[in-house]
Amino acid sequence: MEYTNLRVLVTGAAGFLGSHLCDALLQAGATVLGVDNFITGNKENLSDARKNQQFTFVEADAITSPEAYLPSGFLPDAVFHLASPASPPHYQKHPVETYLVNSMGTHNILQYLVAHAPSARFIYASSSETYGNPLEHPQKESYWGNVNPNGVRSCYDEGKRFGETICGVHARNFGMNVRIARIFNTHGPRMSLGDGRVTINFFQQAIKNQPMTIYGDGKQTRSFCYVDDLIRGFLLLGSVDRAKGETVNLGNPNETTVLELAEAVKKITGATSEYVFTPMPGDDPVRRKPDITKAKTILGWEPKISFEEGLKKTIEYYKRFLNT
Ligand code: UDP
Repeated sequence: MEYTNLRVLVTGAAGFLGSHLCDALLQAGATVLGVDNFITGNKENLSDARKNQQFTFVEADAITSPEAYLPSGFLPDAVFHLASPASPPHYQKHPVETYLVNSMGTHNILQYLVAHAPSARFIYASSSETYGNPLEHPQKESYWGNVNPNGVRSCYDEGKRFGETICGVHARNFGMNVRIARIFNTHGPRMSLGDGRVTINFFQQAIKNQPMTIYGDGKQTRSFCYVDDLIRGFLLLGSVDRAKGETVNLGNPNETTVLELAEAVKKITGATSEYVFTPMPGDDPVRRKPDITKAKTILGWEPKISFEEGLKKTIEYYKRFLNT
């Protein structure tokens, strides 16, 4: 992939996806500057990247302009903007930071690039949450979504939507080379144990043979992508010429109910956990599945790792981690 000798800024570098992205960029020959303020990121996630001489880390808040944290002389060729709390419990705990890093943070980086590196590529980590509780299924990029502007998820959903607006303005009005990834549910090593998302909750509960927490009746659906597939798509989005100015869904179209996920995790771990049903959280989307036709056409990308294979890989990692 064409990242050799490129200088790449990654915000949210110590997060789940950010840290895997840094590793992949380094592997592809890039010089990487990672930024994180550890609001939800984890220092341990960067232990591989830190061994590489092409990697530098700066502890900073990506809401502020890069002017404040970029080392002098580091003019990026590409910026991947991932900084943001991403799980519902985390973004609901940090709603202001969440909407600011996706709005003000995106604006500040793009304005910095307009002034100092106008030919740089800017790749924005948006989300399937921009579709809200979708009335169109599966979701194509052309769908505008069904989002509550003032609910418990709005700081994230509307933050990501406004981030996309800012990207669009900078593409149209400032001629910037912008690409938007709408990232669907992803799992894999390095998601923090306290993240609160369904996969990491179920993995821990099943590995410890504890009751598994099903919100609502468990019939709501999601489509889970293994992290390696996601990162491969993300790198392509940042490198393929045809992706300039495009918004692309990245995710695995293999749709499953939460109960089916729980069953699959139980089967792989051999757990005999019971299910504990608790009320459905506010504005929790009922169905979610990406249409990835655009990713296939523009990027030549589709996930290669099956649902079951991905779950097995992630569970193996957490088993080691949880010392069982
Ligand atoms: N969920 C669940 N049990 C959990 C955590 C989440 O049943 O312990 C449900 C949640 O209500 C949602 C789905 O799993 O319908 C996915 O939730 P997650 O927090 O992983 O991400 P989301 O896709 O909602 O942002």
